[in-house]
Amino acid sequence: MEKTNYSMLMEEEIKRIKQNSKKPTLLLHSCCAPCSSSVIELLLEYFDVTVYYYNPNIYPEDEYYKRSKEQESFCREYFKDHNIKVISEEYKKEDFVKIAKGFENAKEGGERCTLCYKLRLEKTAVYAKENGYDYFASTLSVSPLKCTKMLNEIGEELSNKYGVKYLYNDFKKKNGYKRSCEISRELGMYRQDWCGCKYSYYERIISSAKGFIFDLDGTLSDTMPFYETYSPNLVRHFGKIPKPTIRDDVRLLTSEEVCEYVVKEYNIPHTPEELLKETYKQLENLYGKDGKLKDGVAEFLDFAIKKGKKICIASATAGKFIEMFLKQTGIYNKFEFYLSCPDLQMYKDKPDIYYLAAEKMGLKPSETIVFEDAHHAVITAKKGGIKVVGVYDVCAEKFTDIIKENADIYVESMKELIFE
Ligand code: SF4
Repeated sequence: MEKTNYSMLMEEEIKRIKQNSKKPTLLLHSCCAPCSSSVIELLLEYFDVTVYYYNPNIYPEDEYYKRSKEQESFCREYFKDHNIKVISEEYKKEDFVKIAKGFENAKEGGERCTLCYKLRLEKTAVYAKENGYDYFASTLSVSPLKCTKMLNEIGEELSNKYGVKYLYNDFKKKNGYKRSCEISRELGMYRQDWCGCKYSYYERIISSAKGFIFDLDGTLSDTMPFYETYSPNLVRHFGKIPKPTIRDDVRLLTSEEVCEYVVKEYNIPHTPEELLKETYKQLENLYGKDGKLKDGVAEFLDFAIKKGKKICIASATAGKFIEMFLKQTGIYNKFEFYLSCPDLQMYKDKPDIYYLAAEKMGLKPSETIVFEDAHHAVITAKKGGIKVVGVYDVCAEKFTDIIKENADIYVESMKELIFE
């Protein structure tokens, strides 16, 4: 079937417009200043253009206002002789959340995007109708990543529904995209490298990495609650009262160090080795029998492997327990290798263990992503120049804000990062 040439349809419409003495009004939806640049430059000659900034898809909120300010200052300064009006709507992310529900894991360009185009174009059509504009359109087709056919079909449908003329377009054509890049470069404009929504932001980060470094407890496995209760229970077992801070006091310690600490701090009449023997029995049960993979982990590991990512583990747990857990849950063969902090005497207060993991995968640290549930490890990896996915764990709930602040992505389940 012959493809519709939307660029030609626009030219024909412009030819008709040129026969009239008065320029018609056009409400031009814009997603950001860089995309709008060549489009406004092209249309100003034929239309009285008003720019309409309504993009509830944009994530995070800061980004929304950053783009809207850039849009306003660009129109004010670059087109100063034209006095272009810019209408910026308030950030209403719930508009987008509602339409994206059920399509969170769709790939960029899929069903979620169709609904996202429609949401923004429909709001533009309604505003154009209510405020007496002659035409409406959107800058979105300037991007080579957007489906021009879909955009124009939606525009046509809305035009029929609301009775406002839609200006067919394919703004990337006739060097439109190239020109938008030139203007952005010339003005040193802020140009984001993801489409807009949270999912496109996540997808861009995940797809740009070549290797993933996973923590084990609390990230891949549901074993953290054991550690929450283990040290206080140990103290109680010997008839002593644990301090309220005990969990934090031992948070960064290995099992051996916890036993030494408990014996010394609470005057326990046993050697650390005796306590450790008992601990090991419990750990064998935990990693060899009771521990489970967290929600979404198995699916995400398969997705990562399918996408050609190298995957490994860097964990604060002893190597023999890591291995027990991986074998018991049937995921041992998925990993290139595992690194154990206590075995290597490298802890997560420094990024060296992540650097070593990257090196063993034949990658630069910047080509990897670290997955962690613990705030101190998130901070270490981030300060070490590595991208981080913060993973929710029930035991780290009180540190959620710190993790969100420091991680590049924060997820409740790794399922959120599967885009297909
Ligand atoms: S990827 Fe872009 S077009 Fe698709 S839903 Fe996200 S913001 Fe909208």
